[in-house]
Amino acid sequence: MTAAVIDGKAFAATLRGHVGELARAFETKAGRKAGLAVVLVGEDPASQVYVRSKGKSTLEAGMASFEHKLPVETSEADLLAVVEQLNADPAVDGILVQLPLPSHMDEQKVIATISPDKDVDGFHVINAGRLAVGLPGFVPCTPLGCIMLLKDRLGSLSGLNAVVIGRSNIVGKPMAQLLLSESCTVTIAHSRTKDLPDVVRRADIVVAAVGRAEMVKGDWIKPGATVIDVGINRVPGAEPGKTKLVGDVDYAGAAQVAGAITPVPGGVGPMTIAVLLRNALVAAHRNAGLELAADAI
Ligand code: NAD
Repeated sequence: MTAAVIDGKAFAATLRGHVGELARAFETKAGRKAGLAVVLVGEDPASQVYVRSKGKSTLEAGMASFEHKLPVETSEADLLAVVEQLNADPAVDGILVQLPLPSHMDEQKVIATISPDKDVDGFHVINAGRLAVGLPGFVPCTPLGCIMLLKDRLGSLSGLNAVVIGRSNIVGKPMAQLLLSESCTVTIAHSRTKDLPDVVRRADIVVAAVGRAEMVKGDWIKPGATVIDVGINRVPGAEPGKTKLVGDVDYAGAAQVAGAITPVPGGVGPMTIAVLLRNALVAAHRNAGLELAADAI
């Protein structure tokens, strides 16, 4: 068997186009653009790339982009003051503070300062709680993007066995909550899980969010399973001095067995920013008191 390739890049492009249309309609109705603010502290090269890319995508989707770049030595109090100012700014619908923050800052304290109604990353405990009890709120972008890909591929997920590998607040835990809300039977595996290959072999859906290059092998995959690879790992490439990106799944091996699989790059990665824009648009409608049909995006 050779797995179908789940084209996250194409799905994300369609989603971004749709968000763009709705953002233009929002501007007509609200008399202003939807606005997304991104705060970057320090000069971490990967974070700089993400922030640049988010700003560009925000403008392309017809929204206003507000970038706040603060030096690495910024105090926590000064960062909190910037967040408070964005909370109070009516032109800003969504606030994203790029993680990781420098070590002298308490990430949870910073996240807790973001207004839950502008928390488009879905990291605030209020939004994590809303997800846990099934209330509408903001859901972290990467796992929501994974669910969109799964539902597009499989339709109903009800009754399927899902194994999520990884239990981070950003990916693993919200992913498990979302799968549960789709009526999957969910197992969360992590670094202390015993007999991980056997656990994964029971899964109709495997979501790998570990951060270990090609850890999940082809012979761990149940024939026909759907494999979502969240991992982004940089490893030495074929040519000396060059690197390449690989996921947490041994793609070549898993593609022989799975029914469908996301590639890295071009699978989950492009979904994250597309869902961020979607969340910002939802925030804009809520903040402006405008209706957005539940199934609009
Ligand atoms: P994290 O380091 O916070 O969490 C990793 C999880 O993996 C932990 O819960 C840990 O228990 C588990 N783990 C570690 N070693 C393990 C092992 N040997 N067996 C089983 N489980 C093990 O990472 P994260 O933030 O959740 O990110 C995970 C991966 O997803 C990383 O590669 C990251 O770069 C990637 N990521 C991608 C996107 C995207 O947009 N595609 C977004 C976020 C994260």
